[in-house]
Amino acid sequence: MPDCIFCRIIRGEAPAKKVYEDERAFVFEDINPQAPTHVLIIPRKHIVGMKEAQPEDAEIIGYLHLVAAQIARERGIEDGYRTVFNVGPRAGQSVFHLHLHLLGGRSLRWPPG
Ligand code: 5GP
Ligand code: ZN
Repeated sequence: MPDCIFCRIIRGEAPAKKVYEDERAFVFEDINPQAPTHVLIIPRKHIVGMKEAQPEDAEIIGYLHLVAAQIARERGIEDGYRTVFNVGPRAGQSVFHLHLHLLGGRSLRWPPG
């Protein structure tokens, strides 16, 4: 998608602190981190959000979680981290390219706000 900020980051047209990439996924530091680790794990494919995901997207959605688990392992935050999809404006979704938040490195409250 030409005007999507996350597609532009994947293409290298917008700056971001890249953490990891492979043929399916791209990971970068959130610009406004809410925890010592706050990275965004996104599919290379432009999917608008979880509400819009299709059955053929099931594998990539699962894969994003495995990438998150690997990054959590590498960063030594396996004592407690959280993976989150914000779905819809009332849950705070502000970018409409599917992204999995990985938050950790501090105590995380429950329920979330
Ligand atoms: P949402 O609120 O849609 O669940 O999450 C969007 C996230 O993307 C936010 O945490 C926000 O800080 C982050 N974000 C928005 N624009 C950019 C950007 O241009 N670069 C980076 N690295 N993060 C961004
Ligand atoms: Zn996009």
